[in-house]
Amino acid sequence: MDFSSSKSLFAKAQQYIPGGVNSPVRAFKAVGGSPIFIKSAKGALVFDEDGNEYIELINSWGPMILGHGNELILKAVSDAIQHSFSFGAPTRREVEMAELLVNMVPSVEKVRMVNSGTEATMSAIRVARGFTGRDKIIKFEGCYHGHGDSFLIAAGSGAVTFGTPDSPGVTKGVANDTLTAPYNDLAAVQNLVEANKGQVAALILEPVVGNMGCVLPAPGFLEGLRKLCDQEGIVFIFDEVMTGFRLAKGGAQERFGVTPDLTTMGKIIGGGMPVGAYGGKAEIMNCVSPAGPVYQAGTLSGNPIAMAAGLAMLTYLNENPEVYQQLEATGNQLVSGFQATNAKLGLPYTINHVGSMYTQFFTDQVVTDFPSAKSSNLAMFGKYFHAMLQRGIYLGPSQFESMFISTAIDQTMVNRIIEANEDALKEIH
Ligand code: PLP
Repeated sequence: MDFSSSKSLFAKAQQYIPGGVNSPVRAFKAVGGSPIFIKSAKGALVFDEDGNEYIELINSWGPMILGHGNELILKAVSDAIQHSFSFGAPTRREVEMAELLVNMVPSVEKVRMVNSGTEATMSAIRVARGFTGRDKIIKFEGCYHGHGDSFLIAAGSGAVTFGTPDSPGVTKGVANDTLTAPYNDLAAVQNLVEANKGQVAALILEPVVGNMGCVLPAPGFLEGLRKLCDQEGIVFIFDEVMTGFRLAKGGAQERFGVTPDLTTMGKIIGGGMPVGAYGGKAEIMNCVSPAGPVYQAGTLSGNPIAMAAGLAMLTYLNENPEVYQQLEATGNQLVSGFQATNAKLGLPYTINHVGSMYTQFFTDQVVTDFPSAKSSNLAMFGKYFHAMLQRGIYLGPSQFESMFISTAIDQTMVNRIIEANEDALKEIH
């Protein structure tokens, strides 16, 4: 495969952009080599600057759930742009979007639009602090909630990929207010809450983790946290930036039957446009300015083009439940194919999977938390990543990421991915 255009673009990018990329994990540091620069995409296929074609399992880290270039979304965006790009004033679509989110997401009674997942999580904990009058938050080791200062403590995703889960630039004061617990360890959370009685404003987690690779909540974990938060007056926050509208129409909270107090949502509600939202109980959301005293604002929040794209996609998801059956079936087929290959080749690797999210961990440990995810053989993952790329399959370039399946992956592609996986594993062992 020829990557010369991507390579020369990366060389130039490094002159002008720190590390040559606008978000760290894109730099391929975790897997070695030079990143590929994407030129276009359609359905489940992406095309790079050298004309190489790949079936992809990143989908912009989740939102392209219907694949790229979906006609409904394209039409909605091209209609919307005729009327200008931004007004900085209320619009009809924002109201329609809020109504749709309230109808689709079990916990959401009121919702505020923002511009990214990071803004959503930052704002949600501010509101939780304002609501409770407490300062501390609890997060889980290996969970990633964007790059807000409070969350860059024992963070997953790019932060762990780059070995800097505790970032320079985060003040000690901020770090002191973030308490961390091991994922899936209810007793540890109970102890932490006990040791900080009456001081914890919020407990935030990814109900299914995507950012240490795909890690599922153990049976009873989410329910136990819900009970603890009720007992202690802690605002329970699900970060559904990856799981929302993906694991079910109403996200992980619908799938697992546990309702948080607040929910943060991201890119998926804009069909891939820069957008986010946070919402939840009216009692809590009514603290947000101008309804209440907790300040949060945004010139581009509720941007008309992002709303048009998001409304088109979410309306489609809301009205077509068969989407979820299809995602489920494709996920099951891929993962059973990978498991059959591992059995055939005698490889002990662990595959975590739920619906249209999965990660193949290069470890023989059961992966339930951050230490077990980190037991993976990262060098082996890097070889596997490149072996798959050479076979025209573009995976997330880090062991600590989930793969995302779209409805654009058809039966022929499923077979191609399973075959490529087997060939790649044979090549690297
Ligand atoms: N929360 C989760 C669970 C995420 O996966 C991410 C990003 O991937 C974020 C928050 C931050 O979202 P954004 O990158 O849009 O700021």
